[in-house]
Order: sequence, then structure tokens, then C-alpha cells
Amino acid sequence: MERPHFIRAWRESLRSLRWRLWAALLLLVVTLLGVLIFLAAEYEEARDQTALEQDAASLVSDIRSSLVRNVQTLQSLHSVAPTADSWAFPAAELMAQHREIVRLEWRDNAQQVTAARDTPFIPELFGYLDRDQALPEVRLACDHARRLSGPAYSSSYFWPLRHGKGLELIEMCLPVARAGLPNGFLVATYSLPGLLSELTNRDLLRGRGLAFNEADGTRLALHSIVTGTRRTLTARQVLDLPGHTLILQLQSPRLLRGLFPNVLTAMVSALSLALLSVLFLLGRDIRRRQRAEMEVAKSLAFRKAMEDSLVTGLRARDMQGRITYVNPAFCDMVGLTAEQLVGTGLPAPWWPPELVDEYQQRQMVRLAGQVLPREGYESVFQRPDGTRFPVLIIEAPLIDAQGKQTGFMSAILDLTEQRRVEDLNRASQERLQATARLATMGEMASLLSHELNQPLAAISSYASGTLNLLEQPEGSGVAVADPVQADLMQAVRRIGEQAERAARVIKSVADFVRRRQQVREAVTPKSLIDAILPLLSLQAKKQGIRLQIQIAPECPSVLCDRTMVEQVLLNLARNGMQAMPLTDPSSRMSLRVLRLEVGQARLHSGLAPGGLPQKAWVAFSVTDHGLGLSEEVQAKLFTPFFTTRAEGMGLGLSLCRTVIEQHGGALTHEPNEPRGTVFRFTLPAAPVQVAPLSSGA
Ligand code: ADP
Repeated sequence: MERPHFIRAWRESLRSLRWRLWAALLLLVVTLLGVLIFLAAEYEEARDQTALEQDAASLVSDIRSSLVRNVQTLQSLHSVAPTADSWAFPAAELMAQHREIVRLEWRDNAQQVTAARDTPFIPELFGYLDRDQALPEVRLACDHARRLSGPAYSSSYFWPLRHGKGLELIEMCLPVARAGLPNGFLVATYSLPGLLSELTNRDLLRGRGLAFNEADGTRLALHSIVTGTRRTLTARQVLDLPGHTLILQLQSPRLLRGLFPNVLTAMVSALSLALLSVLFLLGRDIRRRQRAEMEVAKSLAFRKAMEDSLVTGLRARDMQGRITYVNPAFCDMVGLTAEQLVGTGLPAPWWPPELVDEYQQRQMVRLAGQVLPREGYESVFQRPDGTRFPVLIIEAPLIDAQGKQTGFMSAILDLTEQRRVEDLNRASQERLQATARLATMGEMASLLSHELNQPLAAISSYASGTLNLLEQPEGSGVAVADPVQADLMQAVRRIGEQAERAARVIKSVADFVRRRQQVREAVTPKSLIDAILPLLSLQAKKQGIRLQIQIAPECPSVLCDRTMVEQVLLNLARNGMQAMPLTDPSSRMSLRVLRLEVGQARLHSGLAPGGLPQKAWVAFSVTDHGLGLSEEVQAKLFTPFFTTRAEGMGLGLSLCRTVIEQHGGALTHEPNEPRGTVFRFTLPAAPVQVAPLSSGA
């Protein structure tokens, strides 16, 4: 009981472990996929950021190169317009083209305004505050420009407009010269929003936010902002101008484009999905496999139980003759354990030492590919304790799934019991045959004694008659003088003596035979029939005859000479079977039956041995469906030496009658319906059934 419980617990724990492993695997896969998706998203974002940085850098470089171009334009303006009057028109034209410049001034070397022009695009730029308010920045830029002998920028400053508006401005001061002498400054006032809107590539700005910031992050000018989302990517690039540094800030919305923001993430997700479905399919496959494994295990267990319960020994050998499998029955047979047997080669441990050579040769023939006999072959095995036993080995080639022979499978039957039964049968057959011979001899002896007694008595009386005749003269008082007569008388006397001696010898033989009558015992009818049954069955099987045996319940035992009555039954049954030969065309299969019946006979007025009245009798009948008895045969049936068979002796029935009559019974016969003959005989029941002697006498 302990073992199955342990196995069940072990299976349970194995199953829960398996589930836990599956759960862990699923968790790992899901985590891995999460990490992959996250990393892919991160990678995409980094790529977007880099692109944004590049765009910002290109915007900054656009602005810088535009400013440089503007400086050149201003220089050429100065060269084409040498006077204040001539300056005004080209300056206005330039401003119309460059919206980012809100005011252009030509200042002399003392930084006093020689000529000036305002942008036409922002009316009343200096309506709220006077231009002079910006002079410190202008001066700062021009001082710087003078030092640099090139363009210089002021720091940016907020310029308020009317109606609460305003804009961030920055001054650019460019020292100009004429004929190699300083000829004052050109001061261009840039609006920072103008710089952003006019000097940048619009294509790069779609949907993005662009602004100028102070180094500390304070916003100076805004061109556009990112709308609709709070998640943005930001790139900052420095625009360092001579004299001032600005930070350009480019913002781009961080788009969550659906669940799969980009191809990479989508691919990773698709792969993950594929992986998950493969996992699912794998799981299903494993489940199916487990089910199949369980079924295989079940059928294996069934086969194992079958093999273990077999009494036939099973043994498998490979092509080299090594044992690969044995079942418990085989182990029991040879007295060795499976561990001791599996793996052993030739000579096998159960081979009797003196037969090793013969068996080895047999194995060689088999391994050489000889066809194995279907009916098997007999052999002798030896156990480790030296006992031997006969076996029947039936062998077949072992074919694997690919149809290749991998060895031999043998079924081994222990013939010990079969041999024992065969020996027993043979012994009982020999015993019966011996009694049959003895009985026949006895019958012949009593027959001869009966037949010879009369001639011997006649010889004896003739001899004494002759003697009387020869002796007559003596009776009349005349002496026998003739010596020839004396010799004759002597001879006749001898004849008489020898005849008497012969009669005595015959009587003693008859007595010897008769003495057997004394061997009486109580025997059940069943045991009588059982004793001859093996012999009858053998013959019946050979002739295709069915035996029917019916013994009435509570049938008493009979008082008889057991062997003799067995002989009677055997004789009658054999005669019956011989009357139904296989070659008989008129005999129907359904009628090939021999019936032996035993029951109590009531109406029988016979005398028991010893002359005592016998009330209870047992009746035996042997019924066949044979050819029946013709009138002629009936007439001579019990005549000694009458037979219709070539090999018959004709003593069977007469012996039967003698035996039955010696028991006080009677042997009769009558035709059977629809065909055949019934032989009946009676035997006295055993004394228990006999009424007390006192009441009868
Ligand atoms: P055997 O068997 O040696 O011939 P038996 O005395 O037993 O001698 O039988 C004598 C003959 O009686 C047989 O040869 C057979 O012809 C005949 N006979 C005996 N029993 C039967 C029977 N049941 N049916 C037909 N004929 C029988």
C-alpha cells in the first residue's frame, strides 16, 4: 500500500513542478518581450532625438549663414550709396527683402545717426518708446565692432510696443570704411522672431516648436510651439554671434503612433506574438505527447502484467545471442534472477555442461539465418542446483519497427508436468495391457482345463477299463504268466497315472486362475471408469468418437475384482468403438457417440458369491451406434476364438462373460435404437447395501 501512495505523491509533485516550470517560462518570455519592446521604443526615441539635434544644428547654421550674407549685403549697400540721400532708397529696398531687419541706421564715427530707415512691416515700432532707449545696446555693439573691425552683436533686449505687445531685438553693428578710412557704422536691428521666421528652412519646422532662449533657459523669442501633447523631444543648439550667444531650441512632439510606434517595435511585437503562439503550440504538443506517453505507459503496464502472469517463459536475444529480456516465469524456470540473466551471452547459464557443444551448434545454425521450426523444438535446461527439466522452445525472429531483424524471441514451456502425466498414462496403460494378457491367459487356461478334463477323464477311465480287462484272469484266480501282458498292464497303469497327473496339473492351473476370484473389494463405479478413461479417450480421439459417461447419483459401490472389471469395461467399450469405424459411410457425425452408463439395477434375482441372496445390484451398460450384430454373429458371440477381425483373438467377450459370471452377475446384449448395440452387465453392490444376514435366513 505504501508504494502506490509514494508513486502518486511523486507524480503529483512532478506535475506541479511541471506547471511551475511552464509558468516561469511564460513569465520569462513575457518579460523578455516587454524589455525588447521597451528597448526598441527607446532606440526609436534616441533616433528621433538625434534627427532633431541634426535639424536644430542645420537651423542654426542656416541662421548663421544668412546673417553672414546679410553682413555682405550691408557692406555692398554702403559701397553703392556713398551719401545719406543716395543711401535711403537701396536701404528701403533691402529692408523690404529682409523682414528680419526692423531698422537700419548709418552712423558716423561718433555714432551719430547719418541716415536711418525703419521696416515697413511693423508700424509704429518706436511709437511707444523712443529709439534712444536702445542706444546703450547700439553703443555696446559698435564699440565691440570697432575692436573687432568686423560685425558685432549686442545682447538682446525686449522692446515694448503699443497695446501691451513687444518683441525681442538685437543690434548688429558693422564698421564701414571708405577709401581705406573708417566711415562710421551700419547698425541693423534684428527682431529675434524675425530671425526665426525668415532665416530658417520652413520644411524643418512643420509641427515643431522653435524658440530662442537665454543660456539660463529664459525664453526670448518664440516662432512656434508644439501643440496637443505634453510629451516632446527637445534639441538645443548654441548660436554664438560675435558679442552675444543665443540658444536655439527646437521641439518635436514625441508621437505615440498607436500601440506600435514604428517598424522595429512592430516587428519585435509580431515576433513576440509568433513566439507566444509557438510556445502555445509547443505546450499543446507537449500535452498531447504526455497523453500519448500515458497511453503508452498504460499499455506497457498492461503488457507487463500479462507477461508477468504468464506461466510460459519469455526470452529475447539479440543477434549475438545475448539476452535482452526475460519474464518472471523464465527466471523461475531456470532459477536465476533477471539481473543475472540479462546481458549474458553464449553458452547460456542453463545449458547442461555436457550438452554445451550440441546447443552451441544449434545456436550457430539459428544465427546463420536458418528458418526456425514453427512447432518448436525440445531441449533440456539445468538449474544452478543441478536439477534438470525438459522444455519446449518456440522461437520467432524479433523484427523492429523498421522491419529489420534485431534478434530472437522465444517462448519456453516447462514440460516436466506434461512428462509426468505421460509417464503415468503409459504406466497405467502397461498395467492394463498386462492384466489383459493375464486375463486372456487365465481364460485360455480355464478353457483348456475344461476342454482337456473330459478327454483326460476318458483316457483315465479307458486305462482303468483296459487294466480291468487285462487283470480279469487274476480275478478268476489265474496268475499272469505272460510277461508281455505284465508289461502291457504296467504301461496302461502308467497311462492312467499320467492322465491323472495331467488332470491335477490342469486343476492346479485352474485353481490358480480361480484364486483371483478371492480378490474382491468395494469400488465406486466412477473410479472404475476413471481408471480406463485415459485409454478410452486416446482411442476415441483417434476415431473421432465422443464419449458420454453417466453415473447415476448415489450409485452404490460394487464388490468386485477391480482389475478384471476394468478389463471388462475396456473390452466392451473398445468393441463398441471398433463397431464405429471412421471408414463407415453410413455413420453420421452426430451418432459417433459411445455411452457408458452406470445405475442401480433393482430387478435382479441372482445369487451373490457364496450363495447369499443379493438385493442390490449395479447395472453397467455400454452403448454404441455401430453396425450392430447380425444373427450369425449373435449365435457365436461368446464362443471362444470367434472373431470377425483379422487381428482379433475372439476371447474378449467370453472373458467378459466369465468375469461377470464369476462375480455372480450377468452379461447381456440387445440392439440399440436407431442403430448399434447395447451390452449390459450387472455386479453386486458392496456389502453396506446388503441386508443383514439374520433377517433373510
Ligand atoms: P475380438 O474383439 O478379439 O474380435 P470379441 O470376443 O471381443 O473378440 O468379439 C467377438 C466378435 O463379436 C467381434 O469380432 C465382433 O465381430 C463382434 N462384436 C463384439 N462387440 C460388438 C459390438 N459392440 N458391435 C458389433 N459387433 C460386435
